[in-house]
Amino acid sequence: MMTDNIFLKIIEKKIPAKIIYEDDLCLAFNDINPQAPTHVVLIPKKVIPTHDEVTKEDKELLGHLHVVAAQLAGQLGLTDGYRLVINCKEHGGQTVPHLHMHLLGGRGLGWPPG
Ligand code: AMP
Repeated sequence: MMTDNIFLKIIEKKIPAKIIYEDDLCLAFNDINPQAPTHVVLIPKKVIPTHDEVTKEDKELLGHLHVVAAQLAGQLGLTDGYRLVINCKEHGGQTVPHLHMHLLGGRGLGWPPG
């Protein structure tokens, strides 16, 4: 996993991203390397390196991410469904050390993942 936190730079507007949603707690932007017709990355502004570091204090924050993901899915027209993914560490395929949720949709997605 990269040690550089690119997503923090996006939060701080130090590097550009196609931001589609922002509030006090989180930010959503189009993935730079989309794996489906719709591929949005949703990140908390709080730095949580991996899902392993989630604590009870983060319950409301993670719930908020789900509420925003559902709103975005509606706005993006994903009426046939979508997938939310949180990759954790090496075996999960995580490459950016800032907890994030992928919102994927716009086509049927295979299962199990590779
Ligand atoms: P993960 O592999 O779960 O850590 O997901 C990281 C995701 O961030 C990948 O899908 C990347 O394509 C995406 N990504 C990395 N850098 C950027 C960037 N600067 N702007 C948008 N998406 C990015």
